[in-house]
Amino acid sequence: MKVIILGAGVAGVASAWYFWRDGHEVTVLERNSGVALETSFANGGQLSYSYVAPLASPSVIPKIPPWLLRRDSPLRFRPELDPRQWRWILEFLAACNARTADLTTERLLRLAFYSRDLMHELVAAHDLDFDYVQNGKLVIHTERASFESARRLMEFQRSLGCEQQALDADATVELEPALQAMRKRICGAIYTPSEDAGDCYKFCTELSRVMMAGPNPVRFRFGVRVDRLLPVHGRLLGVETNRCSRRSASTCRCIRSRAIASPFRSRATPARRASASPTTSARSCMRGSATSFAWQAWPISRGSRR
Ligand SMILES: Cc1cc2nc3c(=O)[nH]c(=O)nc-3n(C[C@H](O)[C@H](O)[C@H](O)COP(=O)(O)OP(=O)(O)OC[C@H]3O[C@@H](n4cnc5c(N)ncnc54)[C@H](O)[C@@H]3O)c2cc1C
Repeated sequence: MKVIILGAGVAGVASAWYFWRDGHEVTVLERNSGVALETSFANGGQLSYSYVAPLASPSVIPKIPPWLLRRDSPLRFRPELDPRQWRWILEFLAACNARTADLTTERLLRLAFYSRDLMHELVAAHDLDFDYVQNGKLVIHTERASFESARRLMEFQRSLGCEQQALDADATVELEPALQAMRKRICGAIYTPSEDAGDCYKFCTELSRVMMAGPNPVRFRFGVRVDRLLPVHGRLLGVETNRCSRRSASTCRCIRSRAIASPFRSRATPARRASASPTTSARSCMRGSATSFAWQAWPISRGSRR
């Protein structure tokens, strides 16, 4: 089968790998001059499988009004006259109850563990140099309430097969001595030994190298901008680019562009999470990373390369 992948971020490159592995003829279209030069270029590097708490939960509702007023909010909302947006909001609010949140957590965890298995399988299949480490993740809490809430979530997730430990301040510092200076501020931490970390940009460049070197190589077409999707009877069968139009038996969209995606417009996503990683260079794997979660926690990936 001929497959076109739109976008060469980590989603596009990983999708290309699965199609390529299954023997398909794969072409990746990317507007930049290489892989992973946008969001996947300098992310936090965390391969985090056990932090799946759904945004739609009872605790999020009181946070929404202040979030809407903050410029650096994890929630961005642009009201539209599109009934699908308002239906989405009503469905989101209806999902903000404990029962649905537990069910979603359970489903997300299953998906995350499946994803972890696939990632481990992929890493074992090739010799990829992307600063990959399997050294766990430590999420530090400086507020008692957030620690207690994380501990409750941990107990629930444990019943679903998640291996995590709640540590007091001393045990946290013992595990990560670099935290000694902030020992007094630590209320506790959740340690997840099974979490990994890796450099997303390097992962993409290495994986694309593998796919270009092997038999039936993947064709990466850089400098190609996708302008329009070509739907036929509701199926995406090709694209129009700044260079030509391409058709395929299957087109895999790994880009998020409102303009070109309109024929297949998915539901509005009214929320995003912001995070920042204190790194030594623009694109280095973190030594420590800070993520602005709704419940104010600091995840630290231990002992990475810098
Ligand atoms: C600050 C920050 C920290 C993060 N930390 C983590 C983390 O620690 N762990 C984690 O798992 N995730 C993290 N994420 C999220 C993660 O980086 C993203 O989910 C992921 O990189 C998205 O990959 P993608 O392939 O979907 O998108 P992208 O990497 O943005 O790739 C999309 C590609 O499509 C191309 N494209 C777009 N439009 C067109 C077009 N019209 N024609 C041709 N090409 C086009 C773009 O050029 C781009 O290369 C973080 C995100 C941010 C912003």
